[in-house]
Amino acid sequence: MFNKKTIRDIDFRGKRVLVRVDFNVPIKEGKVKDDTRIRAALPTLNYLLDRGASLILCSHLGRPKGGPSPEFSMKPVADYLAGLMGKPVAFVGNLVGPDVTAAAQALKPGEILVLENTRFHPGETKNDPELSEQLARLADVYVNDAFGSAHRAHASTEGVAHHLPAVAGFLMEREIQYLGQAIAEPKRPFVAILGGAKISDKIGVIRNLLKIADHVLIGGGMANTFFKAQGYPVGDSLVEDEALDTARELLAMGGTRLRLPIDVVIADRFENEAESRVMPMAPVPDGWRILDIGPETAAAFRKVIASAGTVVWNGPMGVFEMPNFAQGTYSIAQAVASSGATSIIGGGDSVAAVNQSGLANKITHISTGGGASLEMLEGLVLPGVAALLDRN
Ligand code: ADP
Ligand code: MG
Repeated sequence: MFNKKTIRDIDFRGKRVLVRVDFNVPIKEGKVKDDTRIRAALPTLNYLLDRGASLILCSHLGRPKGGPSPEFSMKPVADYLAGLMGKPVAFVGNLVGPDVTAAAQALKPGEILVLENTRFHPGETKNDPELSEQLARLADVYVNDAFGSAHRAHASTEGVAHHLPAVAGFLMEREIQYLGQAIAEPKRPFVAILGGAKISDKIGVIRNLLKIADHVLIGGGMANTFFKAQGYPVGDSLVEDEALDTARELLAMGGTRLRLPIDVVIADRFENEAESRVMPMAPVPDGWRILDIGPETAAAFRKVIASAGTVVWNGPMGVFEMPNFAQGTYSIAQAVASSGATSIIGGGDSVAAVNQSGLANKITHISTGGGASLEMLEGLVLPGVAALLDRN
């Protein structure tokens, strides 16, 4: 299924290894606030160290504009990693250049060097061949474990892979296996649950899943645009007028496989303390907005989920950040967790919702990549994966 070489296929003794990780973590006042992504790379890093490699790690962090800026430095991440690994981690304040070359050459087996934010360099997002070659010269082997960045063809995620033996790390392998399997040969019935704020972010995903899934359950803000496309006024709900034609096209394409909420929770303000009521889907009064799916919808969706062989979920069912409108999302999370299906959840907010629900350990695979997981579900090939060595 996963037809790329991985770190299992290479002898790392005495090798310098450039590892592209996804250490794009939230930082506040110089401190790492959520280490999920750092921890997710540890199996790969420990495996390489145990086999006698020295590691040169690089990642982007945030969206620095027009060059280096201290708030996006990788230094706090390097320090945090040192704490996690229980050993020193060197840091160099550049991505390439004489100081980086010297630091890389000084590395002994078992040692770790973290480079500065890849996006401080203007060549990164342009996939500049010169930068790719400079990066490649630092190491003997390239390992890509940054699934969350694999949908970008950047110098550190794609370009560099053409200049070194390039293989996948364990995290990359696991992500592609689960998401790829769900798309290519799902255990049926295959149920896709899609929600979140906007339809426009996920049109390609809805279209592709309508082709391959047995049921596509729609909730969240994106349902509103479908309602409006069906002719229901949606009051003050979040709606995308520019996506109405697309919504009509998807409705026609989906037929009975596409299921919309049959009842909704509406509120008189966009606030947790707002007055709220449940109504069967019908015109929403002016001044009111849809903030969650209703209990009848949750029950109907739960029934479909209970018999699923595979569940893929992206996008919360309502404004789950407000406890009074989190019911629908939690109810669906419960159904996914207690189904016997292979369950895969992707998307930053969806993953946060499942973590909040306390059910994360009952999910088969929680993806670390938002955009990358969406592109997989869309059926696209990720450039960072395509550039790795083929198995045969
Ligand atoms: P993910 O990060 O999982 O891909 P999205 O970013 O697409 O999900 O959407 C998550 C956001 O959608 C949340 O902030 C949530 O509050 C919002 N949302 C869900 N339902 C609604 C709704 N009915 N009205 C407005 N916003 C909504
Ligand atoms: Mg989001």
